[in-house]
Parts: sequence; C-alpha cells; structure tokens
Amino acid sequence: KSVVHRICSGQVILDLSSAVKELVENSLDAGATTVEVSLKAYGEEWFKVADNGSGISPSNFQALALKHHTSKISDFSDLNSVATFGFRGEALSSLCALGKLTVETRTKEEPVGTHLEFEHSGVVSSERKIARQVGTTVTIEKLFSTLPVRGKEFSRNIRKEYGKVISLLNAYAIIAKGVRLLCTNIVGKNSRMVVVKTQGSSSLKDNIITVFGLNTFKCLEPFKLAISEDCQVEGFLSKPGPGSGRNSGDRQFFYVNGRPVDMPKVTKLVNELYRSSNSKQYPVAVLNFCIPTTSYDVNVAPDKRKIFFSSEHTILLSLREAIGNLYSPQQC
Ligand code: ADP
Ligand code: MG
Repeated sequence: KSVVHRICSGQVILDLSSAVKELVENSLDAGATTVEVSLKAYGEEWFKVADNGSGISPSNFQALALKHHTSKISDFSDLNSVATFGFRGEALSSLCALGKLTVETRTKEEPVGTHLEFEHSGVVSSERKIARQVGTTVTIEKLFSTLPVRGKEFSRNIRKEYGKVISLLNAYAIIAKGVRLLCTNIVGKNSRMVVVKTQGSSSLKDNIITVFGLNTFKCLEPFKLAISEDCQVEGFLSKPGPGSGRNSGDRQFFYVNGRPVDMPKVTKLVNELYRSSNSKQYPVAVLNFCIPTTSYDVNVAPDKRKIFFSSEHTILLSLREAIGNLYSPQQC
C-alpha cells in the first residue's frame, strides 16, 4: 500500500517546481503577505516555504499529511467554484510520502508555536512546542528519496529543476499584489544567494518593473480585452515591431484568476501574431484571464497548471482578433 502511495504521490508532485508551487499556494491560500522560499543546494538537500499566514490550528495536526485532508472544501458542490489555489488535500500527503516533512506553525489563537514531524505515511511522529510568530513553515528534506530512480534523476537534473522554480516564483512575483516574495538559495556553508525578491507592491506594473526591469517595461503596452460580460483578459504585451521582444519566449506568463497556468495554445497564438509583423523575436507577455470559476476546469491535470476553458474557441478567436490588430493593424 505504501509503495502505491509513493508512486501516486510522484504523479501529484512531478518535480521540484510543482512541490514549491503547492507550498506557495498554501501560503497564499492562508492569506500570507510574506512568503519566503529557501533552497539548500538548489533544493536537492531541502527546501522550505515560510509564511506569515493564518497558521494551522491544532485540531488539524493529526490529519494534516493524510491523503485527502483539506480544510478548504466543505461540500462537494464547492468543487465547481474553487476560489482558493489548493483544494484536493493531496499536496502535503504526497510531499510527505516523497521526502521528510516538517511543519512549524502557529495561529493567532495559540500563545506558542508547534513543531511537527511526520512519517512518510503521513502520521505525526513527533510534536513539541516552539517559539515562533504566527504563520507556517513547511520543510521538505530529500525530495524523491523514497523513489530511488526518480531520486537519481532529480539529482542529475537539479540545475534545470532549480531554473523552473525561479521561473515559477517570478510568475508569482509578477501577479501577487501586496505579497512580499523572497527566494534564497544556500550553497556551501555561508553563501546565501537572493534569487527572487519583491517589495509587495500593489500594481502589476510595479511588479513587472521589479521582475523584468524598467527597460523591458518601457517596451510593453497595456492590453485589455473583454471577451464576454464575465470574461476579461488584462495585462501587458510587447509593443509591435522588432526590438521590443526577446530572443526566446522566456518572459511569457499566463494566469487564470491570478493563478499561474500553462496555456500552450495562447502562447502559440501570441508568438505567431507577433512574429508575423516581421519580427524574429518573441514577445514579452503577461496575461491574466479573469473568468468565473465555473467556466473552466483546473482539475484535469494533477499539477493544476493545465486549464480547460469551456469556451476555448471563443476565447482564442477574440484574442486572435485583438492581438492581431495590435501587431498588424488593418490598413485602409
Ligand atoms: P489543500 O491545499 O488542497 O487543502 P494541502 O495538502 O496542500 O491540501 O494542505 C492540507 C491542509 O493543510 C490545508 O487544507 C490547510 O488547512 C493546511 N495548510 C497547509 N499549508 C498551510 C499554510 N502554509 N498555512 C496554513 N494552512 C496550511
Ligand atoms: Mg494545497
């Protein structure tokens, strides 16, 4: 049974970036305004996410890392209108099966914090009181060490995995308003490299300037499109013409209701339209789709990055027209 659990867990947590994503989303769900990600040796030894969110109440400790434990869904009808990032209660149990899970937490109702350690099965193996601020710190040591083959692959690809984490954290740094995000990587004894740092500004513009720099921002144009009464797309795109883009598509970030997602079709469309206006470059793109939670399905892929729109065709057509006009305006 536990082997099956480990293998299934390896399908929820595909790599380092999906592990970090789950932890960051939990922090944001908990209302954190400060989220600090630390990686030891690019995440190979351990990684942790510390937040100043609501904390976890003691009544949840025992079941915290058990499969399908969640405090976020009270009723199956909620599945159709999930507003929070996480909802399936699978992240902590999966991470726990794949590495060594430690949680330190305190709610504002508790006078002190609690340090919890877990067995791979999800059972609490030790619990003690500690001094700490309100909030939660989740640490995973030796991810994938319980799956030997995956573990070897993980070590071999660690730099690549680390790169994906940075890109993911940049995606949050761009979209999260009023959240201070910090990521450091500890290599060797005392060298701590700061790799992502935001001030928690309150506008998309300021976040983009923080992450991409002012020069890139100057090459962008605001984009806003109402596809239907309750579906809007908002963000920034490279200005038309050569010189405003990049040599690779490394600065393209797509979101649904502020959640970073992969959108292969939208990505392809944006690239195609930009490049058709005689540019060999790729545009910078930051697009957030604001759409009712009932109009898309986030439950299709285990890592929740793939999105399925119920009116995909309409959305793509409208985008093609609007972005097409931006990049090759009709001459009359
Ligand atoms: P889900 O997010 O789908 O509910 P998880 O496995 O990610 O499932 O987390 C399980 C539960 O642990 C959450 O429902 C929440 O109650 C609690 N939790 C996890 N991380 C945090 C955090 N950073 N702050 C507060 N609560 C947390
Ligand atoms: Mg979660």
